[in-house]
Amino acid sequence: MDFDVAVIGAGAAGMMCAAQAGQRGRRVLLIEHYHALGEKIRISGGGRCNFTNVNAGPANYLSRNPDFCRSALARYTPAHFVRLVERHGIAYHEKKLGQLFCDDSSLDLIRMLKRECDAGCVQWRMPCAVADVTREGDHFAVATAEGPVRASSLVVATGGLTVPKIGATPFGYRIAERFGLAVVPPRPALVPLAFAPDALARYGDLTGVSVDAEVSCNGGRFRENLLFTHRGLSGPAILQISSYWDGRAPLAIDLMPGTDAQAWLFARRRSDARLSNLLAERLPKRFAQQWCAAHGVAAPVRDLPEARLREVARALAHWEVLPSGTLGYQKAEVTAGGVDTRGLSSRTMAATAVPGLFFIGEVVDVTGWLGGYNFQWAWSSGHAAGQFA
Ligand SMILES: Cc1cc2nc3c(=O)[nH]c(=O)nc-3n(C[C@H](O)[C@H](O)[C@H](O)COP(=O)(O)OP(=O)(O)OC[C@H]3O[C@@H](n4cnc5c(N)ncnc54)[C@H](O)[C@@H]3O)c2cc1C
Repeated sequence: MDFDVAVIGAGAAGMMCAAQAGQRGRRVLLIEHYHALGEKIRISGGGRCNFTNVNAGPANYLSRNPDFCRSALARYTPAHFVRLVERHGIAYHEKKLGQLFCDDSSLDLIRMLKRECDAGCVQWRMPCAVADVTREGDHFAVATAEGPVRASSLVVATGGLTVPKIGATPFGYRIAERFGLAVVPPRPALVPLAFAPDALARYGDLTGVSVDAEVSCNGGRFRENLLFTHRGLSGPAILQISSYWDGRAPLAIDLMPGTDAQAWLFARRRSDARLSNLLAERLPKRFAQQWCAAHGVAAPVRDLPEARLREVARALAHWEVLPSGTLGYQKAEVTAGGVDTRGLSSRTMAATAVPGLFFIGEVVDVTGWLGGYNFQWAWSSGHAAGQFA
C-alpha cells in the first residue's frame, strides 16, 4: 500500500493535516488505533468544545522556544478556523475571554473534520495499531495491524499523555527519539494541584468553595477563580498556573486582587470585629476562618499591632502555597513538553534532519493556556504540515 502521506493519530491536528494534504491532491492515509476519532474534541469544553480563542497568539503558549509557534499561528489564525466552522454551518458563541464554543455539540466539529478529509479523499485505518516505523531509502515503512504501508511523508499527530483511557500513548515521543530528535520531558499541565498534608488537614473540608484570586508562579500570572477540592486546589486560576509550576516554587496567591490589602486593612484597624469576620466581606466565610486560624490571627482587629497588620496584609496579597504535586495525566487537560522544537522547522513542522518526517499538535513542545489555545495550536500546526507533507 503506497501513499504520499501517512498520518498517525486522528485527533484535531491529524485530521486537519490529512484534510489539507488530501485537498492538495496528495494520497493520504490516516491511521488511528482507537475505535473513535477525535475523542478529545468530543469530550472537550463539557461536550461543546472550546475550539479556539479569538486572542490566540504566541504569548499564550509555553515552550522551550517560545517563538516556535509564531509562524504557524500567523498563517492559520483563529479567524481562519472560524471561517471553516461557518462554512460548515456550525453555530457557535463566545463565552468569555475570547473563548469560542459550539452552540450544540463538539460532534459537529468532528463531522466537519471528517467531511474535510472526505473532500481530500483521505483513506482510513481505524481502529488499527501501529507496531513500528522505519526509514527505507526515501520512504517510511509503517508496520500496522492491517499490513505494511509505504509513504514518502510521515506525520506524527499522536497527541500527549492525558486521559490514557481514550487512546493517549507515548508513541510519538518514541518515534522522535528513534529518529534522533530530542524530547523535552513530558509533564501534566492544566491540571489540579494537590495540597501538602498540613494544608490538606486545614483546608480539605472546603470542597466546592471558590475564591476570586490572582495566582502567580515562575513568570505566569492569572486572575480567575480558584476552587478548593477534597485533594487540593483547582479552578481556572490553578489550572493555568499549573503549567508554570515546576514542582519546587511555591504559588503566590493574592486573595484580594485589584485591592490594596494594606489600605483595606488599615481602613478597618479600629474595628472590634475579628479579622475573619471582616474578611468574610470579601472571601467565603469558612475559608476566611481557616485562613485566619492558619495565620494565628484570632484577636479583634483593633488589638493587632501595626507591624502585625502589615504582616497580615502582606500574607493576604501573597499567600504562599507549596503543592505536593499534580493530580497527574488522568486529570490533566494537556501534556507540557514533547518533541523539542529545536529539531523542527517552524514553517513546515518537519524534522530538519529527517526529510519527510513531521510532528504536529500536542506531541510537540508547545502548550497553550486554558481557553481554546490548545486546539488552535492543533489546527495551526496541522494546517502548516498539511501544506508541505
Ligand atoms: C478533558 C479535556 C478537555 C479539553 N478541552 C479543551 C478545550 O476546550 N479547548 C482546547 O483548546 N483544548 C482542550 N483540551 C486539549 C485538547 O484536547 C488537545 O490539546 C488537543 O486534542 C490536541 O490535539 P492532537 O491532535 O495533537 O492530539 P489528540 O487530540 O490527543 O489526538 C491524538 C490521536 O492520536 C491517537 N494515537 C495515540 N497514539 C497512537 C498510536 N500509537 N497509533 C495510532 N494512533 C495513536 C489517539 O488515539 C488520538 O486520537 C482538552 C483536553 C482534555 C483531556
